Amino acid sequence: MAFKSDIEIARAAKKLPIQKIGERLGIGAEDLVPYGHDKAKVSQRFIESIQDRPNGKLILVTAINPTPAGEGKTTTTVGLGDGLNAIGKKAAICIREASLGPNFGMKGGAAGGGYAQIVPMEDMNLHFTGDFHAITSAHSLLSAMIDNHIYWGNELAIDMRRVVWRRVVDMNDRALRQITAALGGVANGFPRETGYDITVASEVMAILCLSRDLKDLEKRLGDMIVAYRRDHSPVYCRDLKAEGAMTVLLKDAMQPNLVQTLEHNPAFVHGGPFANIAHGCNSVIATTTALKLADYVVTEAGFGADLGAEKFMNIKCRKAGLKPDCVVLVATVRAMKMNGGVAKADLGPENVAAVKKGCANLGRHIENLHGFGVPVVVAINHFSGDSEAEIEAVQSYVSGRGAEAIVSRHWEQGGKGAVNLAMRVAEIADSGRSQFAPLYEDEMPLFEKIRTIATRIYRADEVLADKRIRDQLHAWEDQGYGHLPVCMAKTQYSFSTDPNLRGAPTGHSVPVREVRLSAGAGFVVVICGEIMTMPGLPRHPSAESIRLNEAGQIEGLF
Ligand code: ADP
Ligand code: MG
Repeated sequence: MAFKSDIEIARAAKKLPIQKIGERLGIGAEDLVPYGHDKAKVSQRFIESIQDRPNGKLILVTAINPTPAGEGKTTTTVGLGDGLNAIGKKAAICIREASLGPNFGMKGGAAGGGYAQIVPMEDMNLHFTGDFHAITSAHSLLSAMIDNHIYWGNELAIDMRRVVWRRVVDMNDRALRQITAALGGVANGFPRETGYDITVASEVMAILCLSRDLKDLEKRLGDMIVAYRRDHSPVYCRDLKAEGAMTVLLKDAMQPNLVQTLEHNPAFVHGGPFANIAHGCNSVIATTTALKLADYVVTEAGFGADLGAEKFMNIKCRKAGLKPDCVVLVATVRAMKMNGGVAKADLGPENVAAVKKGCANLGRHIENLHGFGVPVVVAINHFSGDSEAEIEAVQSYVSGRGAEAIVSRHWEQGGKGAVNLAMRVAEIADSGRSQFAPLYEDEMPLFEKIRTIATRIYRADEVLADKRIRDQLHAWEDQGYGHLPVCMAKTQYSFSTDPNLRGAPTGHSVPVREVRLSAGAGFVVVICGEIMTMPGLPRHPSAESIRLNEAGQIEGLF
């Protein structure tokens, strides 16, 4: 049987007017700000009015270490949301918005897949409600104000070699990674080196996703460090008086976006911080709003559980006072085979031995998640080629680890394919079994926080950091930043810092190359290995095959 592509399925969707979706959550038409017929923002007034309500149950979807075989976290998040609704529960979904750049590079959207998708998927993967445009604009305003300040005499004594605020654009454009700005003579200012990051890597994005409200947003924007003076003292965004105007630009972007699944269930799609130099989950305001409106909220964290779930727990939950009631760990038979050493081209034939070997990766993630005090259910995201014996191998491995693995067929069947998963997840979330606690206390010294994650989550023997890095961490502790959580930036492909080390490696060490302070977002970024804040396009970008067809429909977008 030939499967339909994601966009073919999405295009055939019969959507309900967005007011109908709002109604299901008790949001009146007067509190929905519609963007067309099928998208709306939820008003600030409404969000303020529901703050005293009790919270629903919070369910986090995360995954094993990703492989090129694909795991389907978003697909499973959407499928589980539909599955919960299918068994009569009131459930909402919270996921991230898509970055434009990657859409034109490699195939793979952000709206889920198969019959577990959020619609309108074309809009969601393109301009959507303009939030990323607003973030790019707010970021760019500050960039312009810095060089303008220098141009008009540099009263703040900014050291032009130490401007840390870069520029952003929402496109994969490697040519902009490192540039010289202000060339062309006196009228254009003082030439200096700078560069571009992709919009989702902006600290403004991380702040938007962690702020409780516009007041909090404005304060955090003001707290951002944009440059240093010759004596190494920081220059803040508020020194340039930029945070007020930036907040004005972000006023609407701060409001969560409501859309629907193919099965007309509510989904909030809001914010999309990078999962390496930021925390990689949808906005706090969307999650906390959904928790007031639904009995179950299913949300997703980027990358594998060693990065995504760790940051969800230690950064997002800590800062927003959230407590996950259940974690769904997505695994696929194909990814188990790859973790067991099979090449992508050889994933077709049954290979139970490789599945068993690859299960070590899954097992370690289960153990790590149990370490946060949360119950874990493994969702085997079913692919058409999976054999019974392979599935059975994963299930018996997982039950030996104090958890259970449930096969889910949401990609092929939508919500009804996820009923078994949904029933079990609801039961666990309702049981009150979760004893969630972050991995470390605020008071722990910054280097100890890094060591705790490296040894307890990555299972490394040691953290390697030279004196320069340790001194920097101490300096920040002296300046009052010691209570911040750390935001790890490392490869998503392995527990270690070596992307080729699959499975469950031990005996490795974690070298820290650089540390950066995101004083507005409120975390210290710890860079272990190569990180990329401006991706490039592949030799044949998918943009080459994206076009409008005769009927005016988008072709080639997944
Ligand atoms: P992630 O969120 O983990 O990055 P996605 O949910 O976005 O992954 O899925 C990536 C791609 O894999 C999508 O195009 C989706 O259609 C496809 N996919 C997901 N699950 C399945 C499945 N069970 N069978 C076939 N394709 C799938
Ligand atoms: Mg995803």
